[in-house]
Amino acid sequence: MEKILFAASECTPFVKTGGLADVIGSLPQALQDAKLSEVRVILPLYDEISSYWKEKMERKATFNVKVGWRDQHATLYTLEHEGVLYYFIANELYFTRKGIYGYYDDGERFVFFSQAVISAFPHLDYEPNVLHGHDWQTGLVMAFAKISPPLPNLKTVFTIHNIKYQGMMPHQAFDDLFNLPMEHFSGFEWNGMINCMKSGLFHADKITTVSPSYAEEIKDPYYSEGLHPILHERDADLVGVINGINIKDYHPMKDPYIKVNYKHSRVKKKENKIFLQEEFGLPVNRDIPMYVAISRLVEQKGFHLLERILEDFLQEDVQIIILGTGEKEFEDSFSHIASRYRDKMVTLLKFDEGLARRLYAGADFFIMPSMFEPCGLSQLIALQYKTVPIVRETGGLKDTVQPFNDFTGEGNGFSFTNYNAHDLLSVLMYSLNVYHQPEHWSRLLKNVNKSQFSWKESAKAYAEIYELLVEPAMIEE
Ligand code: ADP
Repeated sequence: MEKILFAASECTPFVKTGGLADVIGSLPQALQDAKLSEVRVILPLYDEISSYWKEKMERKATFNVKVGWRDQHATLYTLEHEGVLYYFIANELYFTRKGIYGYYDDGERFVFFSQAVISAFPHLDYEPNVLHGHDWQTGLVMAFAKISPPLPNLKTVFTIHNIKYQGMMPHQAFDDLFNLPMEHFSGFEWNGMINCMKSGLFHADKITTVSPSYAEEIKDPYYSEGLHPILHERDADLVGVINGINIKDYHPMKDPYIKVNYKHSRVKKKENKIFLQEEFGLPVNRDIPMYVAISRLVEQKGFHLLERILEDFLQEDVQIIILGTGEKEFEDSFSHIASRYRDKMVTLLKFDEGLARRLYAGADFFIMPSMFEPCGLSQLIALQYKTVPIVRETGGLKDTVQPFNDFTGEGNGFSFTNYNAHDLLSVLMYSLNVYHQPEHWSRLLKNVNKSQFSWKESAKAYAEIYELLVEPAMIEE
């Protein structure tokens, strides 16, 4: 069984801004529970992490980390949670701030974290065979581990959760922050900038991304955010593995956040819907179809399309609830539309885990018309709560949602291909149509019921990647 160390910037239940946290908070446990690999996880210790967790942590070591010519102080803490050991790196300058990203010196903060991960090795009491980094925040961990390995034979895996966010800094950062000979510059540089995502892609032994479709898409300039040349170079080492969700946590029969837990075959959606209608002052009627979106309100998620056709769709007898925070343009326009259709639409501008789960439980449909979607977890959570996803056919959405066909009775959701608002509107109208035809609707719900997205298969795929790296298969003559 291989020993793996995950390095990442967020992880449930400690700190979360999106799907990355769900993956880091569930894949290690899945690998361990199935006795496939031993996994530990190393994270920054942000102020944002609640004292509930901080009080349980043990201080393990203090050491210095070089950031350019400066010595920064790091303290290493450990915490065991549900069978997984977590390491946290504390530093007063970089991580004692509100929120976790969005600072002018984010690049430098994750240079520090990346150096600290490498410097922490002698203090871990753990000798991993594989160091597995996730997204741009740990791209430099891949680079530093390759240039000066903290252990002999250490292999590296780098997972792209979203190629749009790359962690770019002016090229002077190489001199200011890295302490490396100039011969290494080209492994970090992209289009005249230091690029942490590129550094990860360049240095890692193996590259994975979070769905087979996205692994193909990112080789195309439309999706690659400029990095397709390097992905073509590394094509032989690139593979897509679909994410799972933690079905013990997202469990509508036990979820403590939701009002009425489902009971075996009884889904209890309508009871949960009524609670939502009462809570948000919508007309209380269990038969009105409820559509929700729970998301970061950013362009990636296809909100331009929804914005364009929302008022047309609101002419129908439907209810829509949008939960999310993000770009002001979307926050303003969805709040404005909700204020004009008070009996049909609610916009909630916040990040609220409990509310999100109550929405997954009470809604009939989940809208996710993404422009691109590496994997997408929300549609999987929706399916888990028996909510029918309506998605654009891209990345992981394409790999997990099959469009319902009322002739064959196949499909677990609704989807459209082109990034076009009217295609979204037609598919919304089609979903409404199916909702009102009991025979089709119950067939669709049966298919939704059968959709399973636990980590079982994907954890095996990761374990195989680790094994092949550590002990490459013999090639038979
Ligand atoms: P991404 O990682 O691109 O944001 P994913 O679909 O992979 O998208 O994961 C999003 C995760 O964040 C899901 O668990 C979703 O329920 C959650 N989420 C997004 N916005 C909110 C919000 N406003 N409140 C609560 N949870 C949210």
